[in-house]
Amino acid sequence: MLPLNSAQLLALWEHGAARHPLDRALLLFAQAAPQLPAESLADRPLGECHAALMRLRWRSFGSRMPLWLDCPACGERMEFELLPEQLPPMQPPPEFVEVAGQRFRCPTSRDLAGIANLTDRESAAQQLLLGCAEDACVSDIRRELVEAALEDADPWADLSLAFQCPTCGQGGEACFDVAGYLWEEVDVSARQLLNEIHLLAQAYGWSEPQILALSAMRRSAYLTRVAP
Ligand SMILES: [Zn+2]
Repeated sequence: MLPLNSAQLLALWEHGAARHPLDRALLLFAQAAPQLPAESLADRPLGECHAALMRLRWRSFGSRMPLWLDCPACGERMEFELLPEQLPPMQPPPEFVEVAGQRFRCPTSRDLAGIANLTDRESAAQQLLLGCAEDACVSDIRRELVEAALEDADPWADLSLAFQCPTCGQGGEACFDVAGYLWEEVDVSARQLLNEIHLLAQAYGWSEPQILALSAMRRSAYLTRVAP
C-alpha cells in the first residue's frame, strides 16, 4: 500500500466532503484496498475495512496518533498517543462465528447503513444481529454471547480504548472511530494543501496540476519564499 499523494488526497476530500460518514469510510477503503472490487467493499467485514484504513493512515501520516478525550466524570481533557502495539493484531475475520449451534457473519458497512436511521440503541443492536444471522430464528440466543463472539472474531470492527482519568481516577472504555479519525486528517490536510496551491498559483501563475506535481519539499521551499 502506497501513502496518499497530494492529488489523491484532494480527490478523496472532494468526493467525500458531502457524504455520510459510512460512505466516506467506503471511499477511504477503496483507496486503501484497490485490489478489492469496488462493489464488494460494503459487504466486507467492518474489521477488514478498519484495519485497511489504519494501514493507510500509518503509511500516509505516520504511526503516531495523537488523541484526546474528555473525561465523562469530571470533564478534564485527557491527551494521549495511540500506539500500534495498543491495537489488536490484524488478521482477516472469519466468514462466520458459531454460537449455540447458529451461525453469524461479521457485520459489514451495509449492515451499519441498514440501522443508521434507528435512534434506539437496543433495537439497532438487535436488528444488526438479526441481519447477520444465517437463520432468521435467533430469539433464544443471548445477544451478549453473539456480540462477544463477533468481537473476538473481528476485534477491529469496533475498536475501544481503555482510559483512566489522571484527575479524578475515573476509568472506562472509549470507542475509537478509525474512519472518522482518518477523514478528519484528510480534511485538514486537503484544506491546507488548497491554501498552498492558492498561494503558489497567485505568486507564480502555475496551474493546480503543476503545483501538485511538485514534491512536498519543493512546494514548501517555494512557499517560504512566497509567504515567509
Ligand atoms: Zn476525570
